[in-house]
Amino acid sequence: MQEKLLAAVDLGGTKILTIIADLNGKILVRKLLPTPPQTDAAGLLHVLESAITQTLAAINKSIIHLAAVGLCVPGFFDIKERVVLKLPNIPLVKNFPLESALAQRLGVPVLVENDANAAAVGEARQGAAKGHRDLIYITVSTGIGAGLILNGELYRGSRGFAGEFGHLEVKSEGPLCGCGKRGCLEAVASGTAIARRANEALRKNGETKLSQWAVQNNGKVTAEHVFLAAKAKDPTAIAIIEEAVFYLGISISNLINLLNPSLVVLGGGVTNAGDVFFAPLQKIVAKNTVKYANQDVKIVPAALGSEAGAIGMLFLVKNQLK
Ligand SMILES: [Zn+2]
Repeated sequence: MQEKLLAAVDLGGTKILTIIADLNGKILVRKLLPTPPQTDAAGLLHVLESAITQTLAAINKSIIHLAAVGLCVPGFFDIKERVVLKLPNIPLVKNFPLESALAQRLGVPVLVENDANAAAVGEARQGAAKGHRDLIYITVSTGIGAGLILNGELYRGSRGFAGEFGHLEVKSEGPLCGCGKRGCLEAVASGTAIARRANEALRKNGETKLSQWAVQNNGKVTAEHVFLAAKAKDPTAIAIIEEAVFYLGISISNLINLLNPSLVVLGGGVTNAGDVFFAPLQKIVAKNTVKYANQDVKIVPAALGSEAGAIGMLFLVKNQLK
């Protein structure tokens, strides 16, 4: 009998990454496709099937060669009811039994997981946290999320919503968050929040170096521009990043004090900024953690980049097959 394959799919708000691997986890092919905007549940099922079919076709295989599919999603997946409750970037898909609907459509077992949880597993098994049994994976990009591996196991909480790190309240009566609350970490320290603060500063103060990027970018700047301006010693950009890093640092310190991990892995677009980001963060964490909890813990950049979620799904789905 021909050996079966695994498909791991990372459904993002803008892109879908599909990886096909053999049962030993060896990656055979990967494909990145756009997530269509404004897709509903029926559209999503079609798009996921098409992403898997197209990726398999690149190695002359089809759905019949699959043993199972692992899918990670950017939002709230209820592990008790096995229902996707809400995907903030794909708002038309809600309260939908995506796992069973996709399994039925493909005729193959499907396992669904939250994307930050999957990325934590990926980094723990094959990335920056290999060998660690107690670690926190944090992603800082347009939003902020976390996955917790405690005592070697993914910690999901009672319904699967553990690790909603971006919605820790850090600034009472602060900016409104996408979740509807005010002052969430995500609303003050995500890439989206950094860009929003920079665009507010641009409107008030034409002196900043940010204006040179704004001219080339329809009058607006992104978080990436803010990091570039900070590297060029622009005081406005530095102040914006300092504030974001401060709230992130305090929040990470609280997690370290609570959970005593041996490693904190930081992924997501914002962490590509390198030292402008990591150096002040390390200082804040050193200052705000209890001595005994912080003496061994390191904060390191993620190693698997945008593939962490899909690689984590390969491990999770393979485990399920045993
Ligand atoms: Zn929130």
